[in-house]
Amino acid sequence: MTRALVLLSSALLALAPITIVRAADDPPKGPTEGVLRIYVTDTKGEPVAGGKASVTAYLDYGGLKKTVTLDPVEPKKGGDVKDPGAGKHGGQVVKTDDDSVELLVVKDAASRPVAAPAFEARIPLVVYQDSMKDAPPSETPGSCPKCGMAMEAHSATFSAVVTVKSGEHTVTAKGFHYPADQGPKSIADAAKMITGNLDRIDALITSGKLAGIRKVAKKVTGASKTIVNLAAARPAGEQATVKKAAEDIADTCAALTKSAKANNADDCKKAVARLRALVASLPK
Ligand SMILES: [Zn+2]
Repeated sequence: MTRALVLLSSALLALAPITIVRAADDPPKGPTEGVLRIYVTDTKGEPVAGGKASVTAYLDYGGLKKTVTLDPVEPKKGGDVKDPGAGKHGGQVVKTDDDSVELLVVKDAASRPVAAPAFEARIPLVVYQDSMKDAPPSETPGSCPKCGMAMEAHSATFSAVVTVKSGEHTVTAKGFHYPADQGPKSIADAAKMITGNLDRIDALITSGKLAGIRKVAKKVTGASKTIVNLAAARPAGEQATVKKAAEDIADTCAALTKSAKANNADDCKKAVARLRALVASLPK
């Protein structure tokens, strides 16, 4: 009866796909911190308020481990309603956009929609690591404790386990990966997704809304990352070319974002043209 249904949601100010930034003087755009929010209900779908449960998140940033105790907050009214769907279990990303990623975990088949998170905590969204990756990422910049190389800023990736203690019951929810793999399943799909986003960027340039480009460019960068992964399934002779094109797409997206920030529409157009040429070079 009191067995809890746990819904985990996080609204994070960085995007879904991983963006690896190459130089220490060019850190990832966006905040270094985000907010982790968690939805908790009982099996009847009634929200479990802060005084009725304690919530802990165990985050693993590829070796950097953080245990976060969430603070109870006044549930916001009128937020997005999360409907996990009946019969689902485990963690999933249900929403990704420019400044939020929402994760949902279902621990009970009798799941019901939940309207408001009652717990939250701030978590890092940027970590530091050198290219050797011989030591776990660090929350703070500086030199690698192992080899002394300068560590670079990277957009955070992590897995999470969440426990909710309510009365004598403890529920453990596993299976979260941030960012979630929501990417395209084939290079052709990725190319299509990129082209769609380039069309959106063209519209933003035309309407003078360059500030909106960054979030769309991030989606293109994410798709390029997926292409790198999908390249492994291509014929051996093709892999290096595909990988190079994908990396060039990511680099061009970074240039595009800079041009957008500088409010330089001409350079934005050039970057988009270059991106279209790179996409056209991908295998069909
Ligand atoms: Zn090192």
